[in-house]
Amino acid sequence: MILALKSGRLPAADWLAAFAAKMPELEVRVWPDVGDRAEIDVLLTTRIPKGEAARFPNLKFVALIAAGADRFLADPTVPPDLPIVRAVNSEQALTMKAWIVYQVLRHHREFPQYEADQKAHRWDRRPVVQPGTVRIGLMGLGQLGGAAARSLVDLGYDVAGWTRAGRGIDGVEDFIGAGEFERFLARSDILIGILPFTTETDSLLDARAFAALPEGAYVINCGRGELVVEADLLAALDKGHLSGAALDVFREEPLPPGHPFWDHPKITLTPHNSATASAWNAVDSVIENIRRCQAGEPFVNLVDRAAGY
Ligand code: NDP
Repeated sequence: MILALKSGRLPAADWLAAFAAKMPELEVRVWPDVGDRAEIDVLLTTRIPKGEAARFPNLKFVALIAAGADRFLADPTVPPDLPIVRAVNSEQALTMKAWIVYQVLRHHREFPQYEADQKAHRWDRRPVVQPGTVRIGLMGLGQLGGAAARSLVDLGYDVAGWTRAGRGIDGVEDFIGAGEFERFLARSDILIGILPFTTETDSLLDARAFAALPEGAYVINCGRGELVVEADLLAALDKGHLSGAALDVFREEPLPPGHPFWDHPKITLTPHNSATASAWNAVDSVIENIRRCQAGEPFVNLVDRAAGY
């Protein structure tokens, strides 16, 4: 087997070292020096220019390093029968759930206000709202959203999730599909977007959705920037209906220097850094799929082309 690697922010050397240690028989060629493209069996990539994947005529599958498949699927030249899998890993879920829990606690326990109080030498013991009365709504209960939901349940929050099919996670109330969306929003004091970007999730959080949230709701988005209509979010914050937002993903990344989010007093943001993983951990699911491919077994973490994620 020969794998072509187009690394993203993780250095190619890390991937090479991990594959060399865990699957030494695998030949890894680093983009763009991949040699004869007809020899490549597996493409492991973050983003790849449109048309490039189709120039590997004998690919057995593509493994996507970042979880979002939308950009790859937007390339019309990708052969329709080419299996696409996600290189998912436990570190990504761990780091994402920590980011989400931090943002929830930061808002719920008023940490920005206590930091301001300290600067002003102000001793102000405000009553703590009990977590059981804080209603959290997660849009998406997949590998990442599901892990965060379990942690939030452990912390005593009143947790619900909105998905296409329901997930049956202990302690998490399921809301399913478009028909239950408004009811789900109406009970979300803290709304967390951890959805993939598909035709169905595009611009889901618009003026109507924000209006359906309870007065003073807080919005967290770490799935994809396209979920949010940015102007509608700003309007809902500015008129006071929303109390704030924590954002990790944006329609345009890097966030342009003059973007209103940078200086907005009710927005806290991070540079698409909520979930990270090491190559050492991330190679495991790629190796698992190579082994399955060799054995003629079904892939794991296969992207559903029809659903778009
Ligand atoms: P999964 O594919 O494991 O789960 C996706 C979840 O979204 C599922 O619960 C699914 O519902 C739900 N969902 C998808 N479409 C809809 C819809 N139309 N209506 C309702 N629910 C829907 O994904 P992950 O949890 O691993 O990741 C989620 C997203 O997070 C990724 O797609 C990616 O875009 C983003 N991401 C962001 C990162 C960052 O650093 N900010 C890092 C990694 C990923 P169901 O269970 O019913 O199928």
